[in-house]
Amino acid sequence: MESSVKTESPSCAGCLNNIGNSDYVSALNQEWHKDCFRCSVCDGQLSSWYLEKGGLLFCQRDYWARFGELCQQCDQVMTGPVMAAGRHRFHPECFSCASCGAHIEPGEPYALRERSQLYW
Ligand SMILES: [Zn+2]
Ligand SMILES: [Zn+2]
Ligand SMILES: [Zn+2]
Repeated sequence: MESSVKTESPSCAGCLNNIGNSDYVSALNQEWHKDCFRCSVCDGQLSSWYLEKGGLLFCQRDYWARFGELCQQCDQVMTGPVMAAGRHRFHPECFSCASCGAHIEPGEPYALRERSQLYW
């Protein structure tokens, strides 16, 4: 499937060796051997998806373990949209009144009581 041969093969950002004819992944404006494209924390090989911070590669689990925030309501890491109430963070679907269970929409008034309980 290679139609043209490059005169100089790129070097791998992981091991700094030439990539040559090996399979490689392009990420962070660099090329990586497939084998060198690994999570910087657990060394697990990354596939088509990866997360990056400060030039380091992370698998999803390690990224969210380090940089993710826990939802105040359900204690699960938030990987999507986040609702903020003061310094508390919630999944949008967890952002509901602790008393009546009514879902609180963005922009609606609410009050925080007992540290993390929501009331409106
Ligand atoms: Zn390499
Ligand atoms: Zn990892
Ligand atoms: Zn939640």
